[in-house]
Amino acid sequence: MTKTSAFATFKSLTSSSRMPVLFLGHGSPMNAIEDNEFRRSWQTLGFDFGVKWPRPQLILCISAHWLTSGWYLTAMAEPKTIHDFGGFPQALFDQQYPAPGFPEAAQEISQRLHQHGSDQPVLLDLQEWGLDHGAWSVLKPMFPQADIPVVQLSMDYSRPPAEHVALGRQLRVLRDYGVLIVGSGNVVHNLRALQMGVASNQAYDWALEFDKIIAAYLQDGNVAALQNFQQLGAVAKQAHPTYEHLLPLLYCAAAVDADEAPQFFNTSFQAASIAMRSVLWA
Ligand code: ZN
Repeated sequence: MTKTSAFATFKSLTSSSRMPVLFLGHGSPMNAIEDNEFRRSWQTLGFDFGVKWPRPQLILCISAHWLTSGWYLTAMAEPKTIHDFGGFPQALFDQQYPAPGFPEAAQEISQRLHQHGSDQPVLLDLQEWGLDHGAWSVLKPMFPQADIPVVQLSMDYSRPPAEHVALGRQLRVLRDYGVLIVGSGNVVHNLRALQMGVASNQAYDWALEFDKIIAAYLQDGNVAALQNFQQLGAVAKQAHPTYEHLLPLLYCAAAVDADEAPQFFNTSFQAASIAMRSVLWA
């Protein structure tokens, strides 16, 4: 039995027209509660589900903020809202996003996702994680009712980019079963270089350059080049001193076909060193 036909045995998800794939630049956690261009774009996107596209049966979120040894899927019925940041106002810590989990779907999906180069399925996390701010800060504005189940997929940061791409490819088929794949990170993310109060059309030269290169890769459907971003050398190192915020984009780009054109939005910056560029494949 091929992997594709194995997916036809889903019991928890029903086949659907193909769902879009989203990569969202999340930037500052404050975007979750501040009325700004980014939050407004997430709110607008949310309205399109159930209109332009089917309402998701499940959201599978790959957040820059959940790094593990091996890969995990959250599989609890009631994932907790995690406030994984410091130094922000109480109003941000008061935020809750009580979207349900979907243990049955997580179980089925985990059995069908294989960690690269092994027969090891993706593992289930029953109690450790929940929804981190990479997930809820964008999902709450999109789906404020919190009535669509959410499962998070972790990333093994110790493994090379190619393995993240390989896992992203395995996610592709889920789009035909009502699963909305949401990657949450940033195309450029250097917290050491933040310049608070800088206008969103201003950024460092290296930030502009890296953002432009990545946009071109996406436009060309060049996942191989995207996967090899470290070969860009100094500019990649400046854009991502650590690259966990770029990795979710690799999953998303790998989960689409070469002929699916990306639509860019939020192509501006926060604090000169965070690219908010977001991508919709639909
Ligand atoms: Zn982040």
